[in-house]
Amino acid sequence: MDAKSVITVNIVTPDGSVYDATTDLVVCKTTVGEIGIMPNHIPTLAALAIDRVRVHKGEEKFDEIAVSGGFMEFSDNTLSIVASAAEKSEDIDTNRAQRAKERAEKRIAQAKENHNVDELKRAEVSLRRAVNRISISSHR
Ligand code: ATP
Repeated sequence: MDAKSVITVNIVTPDGSVYDATTDLVVCKTTVGEIGIMPNHIPTLAALAIDRVRVHKGEEKFDEIAVSGGFMEFSDNTLSIVASAAEKSEDIDTNRAQRAKERAEKRIAQAKENHNVDELKRAEVSLRRAVNRISISSHR
């Protein structure tokens, strides 16, 4: 593959680099919908949802990375994703995510009881992160 037909993908978090690869297709979920990036796609900047980033690895195979929100920027065949947290599917601790899910559900119930809108929003985001991790780890 020549440089014009590949994308370099970097996913970084405040803790450092989580994923680096070259590919011919990346599919990610922005806050306004799914986007597929292929080589020579127009420059793009978008906010990411709490969801999966899928990196094509040939045939029907994709690497899957859980991202907890953040931004993606594409230009010059380089896709940079900056996320507050990100984990490759094989690095997800499913039991930890399950415990985080249960904790978030309890917080949601409590926040509803107390009519605490701010806490409800925070707990809902925690729940989304946990459910996303569980869903991605079940695909590996
Ligand atoms: P927890 O309550 O289990 O800490 P959290 O959603 O609060 O979950 P984050 O604040 O999103 O966690 O992430 C903190 C750090 O822990 C990040 O580096 C993230 O990649 C990592 N992390 C969180 N949950 C998991 C998990 N289930 N498996 C692997 N790494 C995780």
